[in-house]
Amino acid sequence: MSEISIVMLGTGSPRPNLNRSQPAQALVIGNETILVDCGEGTTTQLMKAGIVPESINYVIFTHLHSDHTLGYAQFLLGGWGQGRSELTVIGPKGTKDLHESILKMYSYDIDYRCSLGRSGAGIRDVRIIEFSEPGELLENPLPYKITTARMIHNVPTFAFRFEIGGKTIVISSDTSPNEEIVDLAEGADLLIQNAGLTTGEKSQALEKIWDQLQKEHCSPTQAGIIAKRAKVKKVVLTHFLPEADGRIAFKEASAVFSGEVIVPEDLEVIAVE
Ligand SMILES: [Zn+2]
Ligand SMILES: [Zn+2]
Repeated sequence: MSEISIVMLGTGSPRPNLNRSQPAQALVIGNETILVDCGEGTTTQLMKAGIVPESINYVIFTHLHSDHTLGYAQFLLGGWGQGRSELTVIGPKGTKDLHESILKMYSYDIDYRCSLGRSGAGIRDVRIIEFSEPGELLENPLPYKITTARMIHNVPTFAFRFEIGGKTIVISSDTSPNEEIVDLAEGADLLIQNAGLTTGEKSQALEKIWDQLQKEHCSPTQAGIIAKRAKVKKVVLTHFLPEADGRIAFKEASAVFSGEVIVPEDLEVIAVE
């Protein structure tokens, strides 16, 4: 069986942060890498992780918030520039629009590069697979079972469950606590769980939006409770604000979940054993 690991490319949030890049994960299965979300900085994060961006032929978007998609233009154009000739993108309704907006915005640039003799393959013929209902992903180009569940956020957002060679990895994406993530993550070897409500010192600006954030994200305690109820082996907390104190997150989640809790740094590699 191929070795499976997750590289936490970006463990940050919409807020600019020198230490935590915007959300993105690389799901590495043997020689294949699937990119899940593509926040700002993802392409350089991939390179820092030793993953050649043009080697990635599959991108999945959990939702279309800016912090999960801002890096897509560079991933798309930069990877094509480096020789990628095939790409499939899977995401909720709106993914096609996002892709086409970027093509339109840079059409002069793409036309110019093609006029120099570069093939349009890998940019003009990207396969976009949109879905709007949760459940097993029916139009699935990958040889693994993929199931999605609808999360509670402020735009259509889906968690993903990957079943690969007897191992199960679940990525919650952005959400407040809900029953669907508990069901989807049932028995998973690894759950990457939103814990966006981790704080240290709360700034005034953060204080102002805190009530709203609680409707859209989980605290580390809530993340730990989801992990416990779903009986997962390991939980990885992510989506940290600049104010977040990882020690608090670890303590809070560990107080309610007896399995392994990981509060990753960017580029941390988590093996699925
Ligand atoms: Zn979001
Ligand atoms: Zn987000």
